[in-house]
Amino acid sequence: RAKGQLGESLCFYESSMDESARARRKLANDLRQAIDRHELSLLYQPQCYLESGALSGYEALLRWHHPLRGSVPPDEFIPIAEEAGLIIPIGEWVLREACREAMHWQDDYRIAVNLSAIQLVQPDIASTVTRVLLETGLPARRLELEITETAIIADKARALRNLRQIKALGVGIAMDDFGTGYSSLDTLHSFPFDKIKIDKSFLLQSDKSEQAQAIIRAVLGLGQSLKIPVLAEGVETEEHLAMLLSEGCQEAQGYYLGRPGHAPSLLAQTLQLGAAESAVFDSARSA
Ligand code: C2E
Ligand code: MG
Ligand code: MG
Ligand code: MG
Repeated sequence: RAKGQLGESLCFYESSMDESARARRKLANDLRQAIDRHELSLLYQPQCYLESGALSGYEALLRWHHPLRGSVPPDEFIPIAEEAGLIIPIGEWVLREACREAMHWQDDYRIAVNLSAIQLVQPDIASTVTRVLLETGLPARRLELEITETAIIADKARALRNLRQIKALGVGIAMDDFGTGYSSLDTLHSFPFDKIKIDKSFLLQSDKSEQAQAIIRAVLGLGQSLKIPVLAEGVETEEHLAMLLSEGCQEAQGYYLGRPGHAPSLLAQTLQLGAAESAVFDSARSA
């Protein structure tokens, strides 16, 4: 009987594996047509300087509106796109779309674009970036590419070579989700990053965890010693903001400062943020 149960649960396990593998294959197939069918879009989330409260730029965040499933989260479809090799055309679409959009902004805000590990090790990634900058007319200094540690570990030599070529164009390179990989310090030591983004999990846990607060302080100290500005992700409350200000963090991003928004509303959102900002930052400073 015990054996029967085990057999049954194995059977269930296998068929649910099949199920999820099939679902992934199906999604990969649908994703193949997503660009042509205009199902992909970008949202833009503001990033702010903490000292002045001024906007520093926007991060482009990819969205997929599936015809049947509706919105599929990037944490779900990006791994599928990577596995299917689709992240190359999709990533190039994102880069071009984001640079083109940034050209419409009245101010010289920076545009931050996420780059996948697969893109980072392509031999022609630097020429793709060059081409997109030329095509869209965006000055290189306005573009920042966000890279995770895992992306560099995949093929360190090639990743670093490509990063150096891209940086030589004048494009900024940010280390994304810092603290969640496993060789952070080594990676920081190997390449002159322009920014460190502390993963949002630390700030989100900081309300309850002194360890999380200690890690945030340690990363800020590290940034200070290495002279690399630090941006904290996941600012959801006024308390988060006040803590970061008092600890000397340079930049911040999170729902409290602005949710990812559609491009046409960017100007309105910016104005709104500008208005909200002064009050928010004033009260955070006096807290
Ligand atoms: P990420 O690059 O670390 O982006 C930040 C994520 O945190 C975004 O999730 C954003 O919506 C979310 N976020 C921002 N502020 C807050 C906050 O205050 N609280 C909380 N809980 N979350 C916040 P999103 O848009 O779902 O993207 C998830 C991940 O998908 C991104 O993490 C990035 O790794 C990946 N991704 C998104 N767009 C692209 C893309 O164009 N290319 C590549 N390769 N990856 C992308
Ligand atoms: Mg990012
Ligand atoms: Mg991140
Ligand atoms: Mg992330």
